[in-house]
Amino acid sequence: MLLKLDEALRTPKSIQILEQVRSRIESGALRAGERLPSTRHLAEQLGLHRSTVATAYQELWAQGWIELSPGAHPRVRARIHPGKPLSKVAAKPSFDWGCVTSEPAAELLQVHRSLQGQGATEHVISFRRLEMDPRLLPTESFRNSLQRVMRLRGTQLLGYGDREGYGPLREYLARRMQRHGISAQPEEILITSGSQQALDLMFRMIAKPGRSVAVELPTYGYALQLLHLAGLKPMGIPMNSEGMDLDALEASMRKQRPALVYTMPNFQNPTGICTSPVHREQLLGLCERHGVPILEDGFEEEMKYFGKVVQPIKALDRTGLVAYAGTFSKVLFPGIRIGWVTAPRSCIERLAALRTFTDLCPAQPMQAALHEFCERGHYDLHLSRMHRVFRKRMQAAIRTLRQCVDPAWAQWQEPNGGFLIWMKLKASPKVQDWERHFATHGVEVTLGQAAFAAPANDVFIRICISLTDEEQIAEGLQRLGRALAAAHA
Ligand code: PMP
Repeated sequence: MLLKLDEALRTPKSIQILEQVRSRIESGALRAGERLPSTRHLAEQLGLHRSTVATAYQELWAQGWIELSPGAHPRVRARIHPGKPLSKVAAKPSFDWGCVTSEPAAELLQVHRSLQGQGATEHVISFRRLEMDPRLLPTESFRNSLQRVMRLRGTQLLGYGDREGYGPLREYLARRMQRHGISAQPEEILITSGSQQALDLMFRMIAKPGRSVAVELPTYGYALQLLHLAGLKPMGIPMNSEGMDLDALEASMRKQRPALVYTMPNFQNPTGICTSPVHREQLLGLCERHGVPILEDGFEEEMKYFGKVVQPIKALDRTGLVAYAGTFSKVLFPGIRIGWVTAPRSCIERLAALRTFTDLCPAQPMQAALHEFCERGHYDLHLSRMHRVFRKRMQAAIRTLRQCVDPAWAQWQEPNGGFLIWMKLKASPKVQDWERHFATHGVEVTLGQAAFAAPANDVFIRICISLTDEEQIAEGLQRLGRALAAAHA
């Protein structure tokens, strides 16, 4: 066995021996049962003290790579898959996990697989993903914040931490909520792993066979999947240009009271509609009269860049029936997975109990870094920059759509913030598969189907401008216009 140690390296010699022997076993160059040189022999060969080789062998033994027995040469330990690359190990498992998978989980698998095929294609301009443009993210400032908190409180932050979330971040959020007219104490805030977890916890909290949740139609597709998983029925309430149709909601409530109303009053996903203060008051009043709580999803609350800001429904809540879910994912970093719920203590406590038994607590280093980042003013700075950038991007989108899309081919409503434009397409006998039709014109959008609880008769598309700059928006939407023109030529 020929080992080569490097004098110039700062890695201790025993570690160099360990790494070289291990990599030979992994590659199959050393086989199970093969003899290794004795400590004396190898020490002489390498010009080292015997104890250095003994230390390396001890560690190889402790890690399960070799066998050591008194008076015998060390030997390579038999392993189940010696020398095989990991990807080739256990290529054909015979156990069928499908037969133990529940029906809702099996259905989710189908959706999951269909989403996985949706990677962006080269030369195609994609308006699919709702995620902040990485070119605009203040990554350096966040890295500094993370380094600072880890330097100052690293050991403490690497513990489990508070189950309801990092105290200083909850205090910050309570103050931030006040800017939106919501008066909340830190105890009335639960930090979650993105707002997706907030929805999941809430749906699980109320789940009971036969129960339903009133949702806008169309709505956020992943919320529909979560409802399904929790065994809750979606009670679809159509959207009109004002938001959820309140007459339809009242009529449905009279027939069967839902356990919850799930709504996105700001930049609704997928329609981009913002409801008026009057609509919000009326929705709240209706829910108060029928004793139905509201889950308000404020996923893009702070992305209002045209016109006057409207306060969330939670700000009008007198009786504590609104739970508000917020997130840092849409304007800032989705990768830190930080969202929150603001609700009365009696609701937070129940959600916190559920979260404790599902994933214990949120990751402290990320929360602490985010807190530091926000307290230093980086979030506010970033937000006002995003308002400037997206005001221009949305103007570019609207301008191009007005120029390139004939109202006879499609109808849409101009949003006053956020990233989404929702379009109803006129059917065309020439196009069966719209996704493919758009792709042949070099543009990708999200088809609306997943946002409806049942198959929809009309064709809708969602255009999301979060990842494209002004130039890409203009080019991409011109392509969309050409695709529609070809469909109706
Ligand atoms: N609500 C809505 C409407 C969303 O679109 C999303 C993400 N696409 C979420 C909640 C969840 O986002 P996150 O968990 O990243 O906060």
